[in-house]
Amino acid sequence: MIHVRQFPCLKDNYGFLAHDDASGETATVDTPDADAILKAAADAGWRITQIWNTHWHPDHAGGNATIKAATGAVVIGPAEVERIGQAPDRIVADGETVSLGAHKARVIDVGGHTLGHVAYAFDADRIAFVGDALFAMGCGRLFEGTAQQMWASLSRLAALPDDATLYCAHEYTESNARFAISIDPDNTALQARVAEVTRLRADGKPTVPMTLAEEKATNPFLRAPLLKRALGMESAADWEAFGEVRKRKDSF
Ligand code: ZN
Ligand code: FE
Repeated sequence: MIHVRQFPCLKDNYGFLAHDDASGETATVDTPDADAILKAAADAGWRITQIWNTHWHPDHAGGNATIKAATGAVVIGPAEVERIGQAPDRIVADGETVSLGAHKARVIDVGGHTLGHVAYAFDADRIAFVGDALFAMGCGRLFEGTAQQMWASLSRLAALPDDATLYCAHEYTESNARFAISIDPDNTALQARVAEVTRLRADGKPTVPMTLAEEKATNPFLRAPLLKRALGMESAADWEAFGEVRKRKDSF
């Protein structure tokens, strides 16, 4: 089984270590804060052997050089990671597989937030690391890609099993919840989740990870096709409805 350690980094990022006991391999998924990640690994008694980047943004790949220098870890990521100053040791793209001991993770193209953004899905373990593509009740801003591209990316994540555990890279849930309830106010699952999230955050607890089933029931970006009437877009394509939800969130 894969053990995951999650810990806060920077202002609102999460760091993640994925560890396989049998092989002793440990991957840090992204490198928001090298010191925090190295400390988390030391606390766990794990040696970081791999770095898996989801995208090139500094709060995801900025610690690569420090962690690689400290541990000798192999850097794996999409080609765009080069933009932070050093190319990954192994460049990966959609459909490829990365390994943590005997556990295989599938690389999924989730471009849109950045063009080359990828997610890592341990299909057999029902765990996925989704970076800044999908958030709890939210999704990444379209800094580089189009709404059509992002909709295709989210649809790939939505094809994972409902009980998949999703680790997203930011604690944005409370502000996402405020937007979600504004656009989908009659959704009872969403109402219940907003209450739960408010309680968790008041107690200083994380709202990450989440399950795909929860997202399908409450995330207004995944639910865009169901919100067409509310958006006044009944004859629009699904991706166009998604694009409208994204636009409204940008100015919310
Ligand atoms: Zn980002
Ligand atoms: Fe980020």
